[in-house]
Amino acid sequence: MGFNIAGTDKKRIVIIGGGFGGLKLANRLKGSNFQIVLIDKNNYHQFPPLLYQVASSGLESSSISFPFRKIFQKRKDFFFRLAEVQAVVREKNLILTSIGELKYDYLIIASGTVTNFFGNEVIEKQTLPMKTIEEALILRNTLLSNFEKATICTDPQEKQALMNVVIVGGGATGVEISGVLAEMKHFVLPKDYPDLKQSEMNIYLVEGSPHLLAAMSEEASDNAKRFLEGMGVKVMLQKKVVDYKDDKVILDDDSSIETKTVVWV
Ligand SMILES: Cc1cc2nc3c(=O)[nH]c(=O)nc-3n(C[C@H](O)[C@H](O)[C@H](O)COP(=O)(O)OP(=O)(O)OC[C@H]3O[C@@H](n4cnc5c(N)ncnc54)[C@H](O)[C@@H]3O)c2cc1C
Repeated sequence: MGFNIAGTDKKRIVIIGGGFGGLKLANRLKGSNFQIVLIDKNNYHQFPPLLYQVASSGLESSSISFPFRKIFQKRKDFFFRLAEVQAVVREKNLILTSIGELKYDYLIIASGTVTNFFGNEVIEKQTLPMKTIEEALILRNTLLSNFEKATICTDPQEKQALMNVVIVGGGATGVEISGVLAEMKHFVLPKDYPDLKQSEMNIYLVEGSPHLLAAMSEEASDNAKRFLEGMGVKVMLQKKVVDYKDDKVILDDDSSIETKTVVWV
């Protein structure tokens, strides 16, 4: 086990993470006078802009994941290693990983970010983030299994909690997932779940600031709100989620929404 990488006279560049940044750099370094080692904890590159399609069953995960070994076929003095990087020892030019240690001459850290739960452990444990293919598939399975449970549920309150979806965060991802779930409600639910009433599925999009898509123009923000509301999404601005317990999302004005599906984006 270990890295088992052939010795070379060239300087070694280690890239941690084959996401957008790491992959672009590795491609740019093609033909350079360096040995390249790309390390990722997955053996595939993923394309996050279409994660919402995987979460809503519109696309299979294989359509947005690309094996590194296929991308880098025939590259000379290039090594991919499947490993999780655990620490960097800068004074020794060394990284510690799940498959052992590796020396580098230059180190590029392109390991992306993690979802911010603002330190709330309950929310972290019980809500569904959507940054990776794995998380998108968990969300897809949760939605579908909740619909299945709703078809046989005889308790109206429990059924409503199964049919309500709360999306927290009105940035690009929150807007995309709300929109695609509204499409699912209108076009998939009536065909695939004829026992469920379309009107029973509620999609709430909760955003703390006064605007959706706060990083974009006011026009884009207003249009997004108008389109989503036109599709039946309940857009709630200037409301913050403070807790999630007993299948209830608690807002900062002390109101609550019953749901078994909270998407944290
Ligand atoms: C749902 C969603 C939709 C998005 N839509 C868009 C869009 O439409 N347009 C746009 O421009 N941007 C979009 N983004 C943002 C975009 O995906 C990120 O800005 C971009 O992926 C960041 O690139 P990165 O290389 O820094 O990190 P990432 O692409 O996240 O890559 C990080 C890589 O590092 C690996 N890694 C992490 N930790 C370790 C470790 N310890 N050891 C080994 N490997 C590790 C991961 O497996 C991953 O492959 C979206 C993001 C999300 C979540």
